[in-house]
Amino acid sequence: MKWFDSLANTITNSLWQASCPLCKRPSDRILCKDCDRQIAAYQSPDFLQKDYPITPEIPLYSWGIYDGALKRAIAACKYDNHPEIMEAIAEKIADTWKRSANTKTPSLKKISVIPIPLHANKLKSRGFNQAELMARRFCDLTAMTCKPQLLRRDKDTKAQMQTKSKQEREENLSKAFTVPLNQQSKPQDVILFDDIYTTGATIREAIATLAANNIKVKGVIVLARPQFKS
Ligand SMILES: [Zn+2]
Repeated sequence: MKWFDSLANTITNSLWQASCPLCKRPSDRILCKDCDRQIAAYQSPDFLQKDYPITPEIPLYSWGIYDGALKRAIAACKYDNHPEIMEAIAEKIADTWKRSANTKTPSLKKISVIPIPLHANKLKSRGFNQAELMARRFCDLTAMTCKPQLLRRDKDTKAQMQTKSKQEREENLSKAFTVPLNQQSKPQDVILFDDIYTTGATIREAIATLAANNIKVKGVIVLARPQFKS
């Protein structure tokens, strides 16, 4: 009954083999080799964005450039319900972080990581916060501590891309975040984690809220940023 076994195997394999969420072809990993390679092509040449810090004291790290296959992967995660894509990409960020010279500083190990939170409404409609998924996986792999509980988003802001002027953007984000009362007593150093860095307004608002509560942001890690215009 060899043919039967082989047919049974084929059926079992085709039933159980997972497919790549981006191209739908069978893959034994989350992302197939081809999509993985296409995403890797959008890795930024430098992880540390030397010429574009958040402030002179707060460095920005961006794994990739927000374009092409990487941009499509982020959209597939958020709007096509594929949170596993972010976990796969978080592994790349962790690898890059571990290779980066900065991580040799022992004090960095004591720094916790805060993902930029989503408002409860958005969390409910999407079902997950992609920044938190990434931050958690990143922390698993770098032995850092993930503390999403330190920051909450109380204001259901518009997407920054829908705002027209700088003033409107600032008002949209003003008082968007709070540090929950039971988290306010401990001064500490943290790194912020987000998926896409655009104007930096969201990040700056989060930094200001944390600073007002004795929580100092020592750096910001994002998956992707647009090409900065020089
Ligand atoms: Zn694929």
